[in-house]
Amino acid sequence: MSAPQPPLALLAELSHRCPLRCPYCSNPLELERGSAEIDTATWLRVLSEAAKLGVLQVHFSGGEPLVRRDLAELVRHATAVGLYTNLITSGVLLDRARLAELVAAGLEHVQLSFQDAEAASADRIAGLERSHEKKLAVAALVREAGLPLTVNAVVHRQNLERLPELIALALKLGAGRIEVAHVQYYGWALANRRALLPTIEQLERATAVVEEARTRLKGVLTIDYVVPDYYARRPKACMGGWGRQFLNISPAGKVLPCHAAESLPGFDFPSVKEASLAEIWYGSEAFNRFRGTAWMPEPCRSCERREIDWGGCRCQAFALTGDAARVDPACAFSPDRELLTAAREDAAAPAGDFVYRQIGGAPARAAS
Ligand code: SF4
Ligand code: SF4
Repeated sequence: MSAPQPPLALLAELSHRCPLRCPYCSNPLELERGSAEIDTATWLRVLSEAAKLGVLQVHFSGGEPLVRRDLAELVRHATAVGLYTNLITSGVLLDRARLAELVAAGLEHVQLSFQDAEAASADRIAGLERSHEKKLAVAALVREAGLPLTVNAVVHRQNLERLPELIALALKLGAGRIEVAHVQYYGWALANRRALLPTIEQLERATAVVEEARTRLKGVLTIDYVVPDYYARRPKACMGGWGRQFLNISPAGKVLPCHAAESLPGFDFPSVKEASLAEIWYGSEAFNRFRGTAWMPEPCRSCERREIDWGGCRCQAFALTGDAARVDPACAFSPDRELLTAAREDAAAPAGDFVYRQIGGAPARAAS
């Protein structure tokens, strides 16, 4: 295997705390408590190490990154060491003063999530009253501050019918980009699959909406579109391939190849408390385990797409088959393909209740 390239981007998950409780949250089921979070000094060192390693962009994320009072200090340091800074936020904790502090620290871009285009549904999905109203105000503040805005819209069977309205909302808010991402089924989303998975008819309508809007809004609004693996014939190149382009750091300081990887058993993901980012990126067993193509089973190993999709997603392979080293069932060549067929039957069943994400305790339920 040739030597790995340096990573391009770092997803800094500052905290799993979040005022929202989205049932498709990409955070793990076992959420970290605030007391486990790494401190400011460690994050500052890690940001310096990331820049030295070759990382170009840092995405401050969570949970909700604004729960950290040191966010502006981290943005300032990231800017000083030459990293492009992006804030991925639910927005509900952002106000004019906090935004001004972040802009002064060098923040360059904001990605703001919207749960739906319709307030009552958006608040129900978020599990927080008046969150939609707050987000509308925050989007206006971001544009007023002169920052580029991306609307993050996670779509599923309970909001897909309003995709045209979501795209219109992004336009009205002055966003330059909307990321329309179908739910991917790990962690909380897997626990909520029946409530979230769309039918193939819903998916086809949504894809037609995106194609029409892309043509109509060319040069005005960029529309990124992530389709659900469950209806794909070939998997996506998850994170651009394991350990090829991305680093993820969890609130407690674990370094992961993707945000869902902590769900994989048998891994001892290294911590920034014990080693440098360079040591972890190049030398750790966890990053090298699924890097490249040598680990692949057949038919991936002799497939002409092996360096295009890198065998798909290890977390999805584990979630569906119980073995992270199997072919991703999103691939039509997978011997486990029938697992997706069974899952797709969920989409035809009644939606069921949401299991809202929350730290500790039994999950709360809400009527659908
Ligand atoms: S998906 Fe929802 S609950 Fe999860 S971090 Fe984002 S806003 Fe918070
Ligand atoms: S067989 Fe493996 S490498 Fe080939 S398309 Fe399927 S997942 Fe990708």
